[in-house]
Amino acid sequence: MPAPLKGQRQEQKLDPTSLSFPRIQTTQVSSYDGSAKFVVELWDGHLIEMVLMPEKTRTTLCLSSQVGCARGCRFCNTARLKLVRNLTLAEFSAQIELSHKWMESNRVWAERWRVTSKVTNLVFMGMGEPLDNFDVLTKFLPVAMDQKGFCIAQKNICVSTVGRVDHLYKLHELYPRLPVAISLHAGQSSLRKKLMPIEHEYSLPEIAEFIQMKVLNHRRDPRLLIQVLLMQGVNNLEKHANELLDFLKSTGLPQDRFKKIKINLIPFNSFGESNFVEPDSESVLAFRHTLAQAGLRVMVRYSKGQDIAGACGQLALK
Ligand code: SF4
Repeated sequence: MPAPLKGQRQEQKLDPTSLSFPRIQTTQVSSYDGSAKFVVELWDGHLIEMVLMPEKTRTTLCLSSQVGCARGCRFCNTARLKLVRNLTLAEFSAQIELSHKWMESNRVWAERWRVTSKVTNLVFMGMGEPLDNFDVLTKFLPVAMDQKGFCIAQKNICVSTVGRVDHLYKLHELYPRLPVAISLHAGQSSLRKKLMPIEHEYSLPEIAEFIQMKVLNHRRDPRLLIQVLLMQGVNNLEKHANELLDFLKSTGLPQDRFKKIKINLIPFNSFGESNFVEPDSESVLAFRHTLAQAGLRVMVRYSKGQDIAGACGQLALK
């Protein structure tokens, strides 16, 4: 039995009669962009987080897939919790149901941010590595997409991973058109190993092969996103942009296909205990320029919910 986490109850023996639906324990709404971060208590007292984000016409839910995470990315707040357990199928669905209930009783939120009171998009970018909870994820996806389920279009669901390549291929076999985001953060192996231990298990050349396959399989939009969290003095310099470019070129894609790769640059948001800090804006623009000049589609995405610690790598039960 794992040691209880700070702020969590001692795990109890399962009493089937005591099983209760997850409940929202606390809510914080960002005055900056309307993102609502929820701490959700599960039947056994463990806590997870989810974030609801109003974006133009979309209402996007950032879901958790595990309590904690085993992957140990150095910059990640969730990693400090280590892995406690996988979420169940019911707990995946409950996050959407709780979001709907919250929006029903907070209609002013949807009106204020001009979005529907229904989850239209899902991103698996909350606590946990979704491809480490693969069986539940692949049972949940049909429920999410089915008209009698949550009726969310496949193109509106994005599974984000730090690069669990074996399950990326399996996911592609099941859902070739499902959007996938790979968190790369470095195009050079030794730096990536320092930031992300998964690089020891699934290395950059294996990720490059997957990218090549995914892009070549779809003539129009391969629905593939490469994410790079930029941290000051760690991976935000010109040489890091060139290393990332070299990595992407190592996929061997012809130029017309190479241009189909989308890159999200995400400036890191500092949080209390973090040793990493946000990059200066000039370096972000220079990084973007280097990639864009090579023909790549690059966006700078400032994480949603910055004032409530609901941004990437910041979910850790604050
Ligand atoms: S960044 Fe994602 S995969 Fe890495 S430790 Fe955090 S939650 Fe896990």
